[in-house]
Amino acid sequence: SIVVTGATGELGRLVIDELLATVPAGETGEIVAVVRNKEKAAAFAARGVELRIADYDHPETLAEAFRAGDRVLLISGSEVGKRVAQHSAIVEAAKAAGVAQLAYTGILGGPDADFLLADEHKATEQLILDSGLPYTFLRNGWYTENYTANLAPVLEHGAVVANAGEGRIASASRADYAAAAAAAVTGEGHLGKAYELSGDTAWSLAEYAALLSEVTGKEIAYKEVPAAVHQEILVGAGLPEGFAAILTDVDEAIARGRLAGTSGDLARLTGRPTTPLATTVRAALANA
Ligand code: NDP
Repeated sequence: SIVVTGATGELGRLVIDELLATVPAGETGEIVAVVRNKEKAAAFAARGVELRIADYDHPETLAEAFRAGDRVLLISGSEVGKRVAQHSAIVEAAKAAGVAQLAYTGILGGPDADFLLADEHKATEQLILDSGLPYTFLRNGWYTENYTANLAPVLEHGAVVANAGEGRIASASRADYAAAAAAAVTGEGHLGKAYELSGDTAWSLAEYAALLSEVTGKEIAYKEVPAAVHQEILVGAGLPEGFAAILTDVDEAIARGRLAGTSGDLARLTGRPTTPLATTVRAALANA
């Protein structure tokens, strides 16, 4: 079977959609969603997807999540700080089951990513290497939606506020990363590979602000602030201190060019160009 963890999340739902669209009709019963909330996955079950219920925080529940020969996509957990323990439990369960492939959604740069958010991804890649399981590393760059899901304050203040300097961001849409992940667990030739997944084009926050101005007809500027000021703004907007610190640290990494790589791996895996920034921006503004 093709097994997707985190299937009810934003990326996971898109992966399931992609699998349902690409796996031959007679084999859709081969698609398995590992979820912690059965109700949230009801729509999958209605479409013929098998559900396996498991919670990363309860390793005993993972014992039934995988079977020998499964091709597994581990979508990284969403609770920063808890993920190494959670991913470790999943790797152990996958190893015990004897899966044929463990694909993992890590971060652009892999072992070379030198920012706080990358720490748990680096540790997880190492756990997978140590397990000896056949792996595929899907090192995801930034989602364009990290920006477009947060347009309300930008439009209100006429400013894109960040401490990312002139750094460029090779983002792609979640759907692009989902298509790449689906390709990696359905196609051949991906074992033992690490893919640096990112958008075909890298853009700066000044260019992003200019695009927003053009599309909305309002004056929107990139307002670069020091990390400490950005931190205060994020905490003021309700983010926990620790997560705000991780985000300002990411901005510094962006300034150093760490999320700018355009290897072309994503477009090669999906067989199509990545979704341009302007497409995702226009769609988000149309729904705003
Ligand atoms: P979501 O938060 O939408 O999805 C996370 C998924 O993980 C959900 O399905 C959630 O289950 C599941 N999950 C979390 N904790 C547990 C647990 N204890 N047991 C079982 N399942 C659990 O994130 P996205 O889909 O947008 O992104 C996927 C991952 O990519 C994130 O978790 C994060 O690691 C990373 N990420 C990457 C970004 C990037 O720009 N590259 C940006 C943001 C995140 P449930 O549906 O029940 O809540």
